[in-house]
Amino acid sequence: MTISARVPYTWHCEPCGRERTASAWRIIDARERADVLTSPAPGVSWLDCPVCGTRTHIEAPLLVLRPGRVAPLLLAVSVAELQHGAPPSAPSLLEQAGRAGAFVGRVFLGQVIPLPRRLLPYVLARDLERDLTDPEAACRELRPEGELRRLRTTGSSSVSSKGNARTPGSRSSWPRRWAACPATFPNSSAPTRN
Ligand SMILES: [Zn+2]
Repeated sequence: MTISARVPYTWHCEPCGRERTASAWRIIDARERADVLTSPAPGVSWLDCPVCGTRTHIEAPLLVLRPGRVAPLLLAVSVAELQHGAPPSAPSLLEQAGRAGAFVGRVFLGQVIPLPRRLLPYVLARDLERDLTDPEAACRELRPEGELRRLRTTGSSSVSSKGNARTPGSRSSWPRRWAACPATFPNSSAPTRN
């Protein structure tokens, strides 16, 4: 079964004054679609109006699966969703990925890292190993991309997946790291192994 999935996304294009619908990613599994993560295109964090070309940020949630990477589970959500602590969309996305077989073999033993979807292309392009060793510098470098000042005051957090899609609701640890800076990750630089 294919894990990566797209869904129709509808938004209001201001210049056109019309509703537009296009395909947006809901789950991207690097094992299947590394190409999408290497060079983000429309449908990853933004969409272009098919008539006037105006770009809009996608405000729906997106789960990115990257087994073996520093941050193997990224949950890219709207800025609004990050304001409320644990992103409400996390359980349903993890469940959908789990049903498709994403967690067979327990290859994801880290945490889900929430981030603003509009920042995803920048985060994907970064050397996260290096960011972990110098989070302050990473924050400074990302600052010009915006959103960070606002996010710093929010209660965004990580959801512990424990490598098992069936326990996405565990809220034992909700570090505020990502909210403080999208390039800042929990102290463990590698996925925890039981
Ligand atoms: Zn338009």
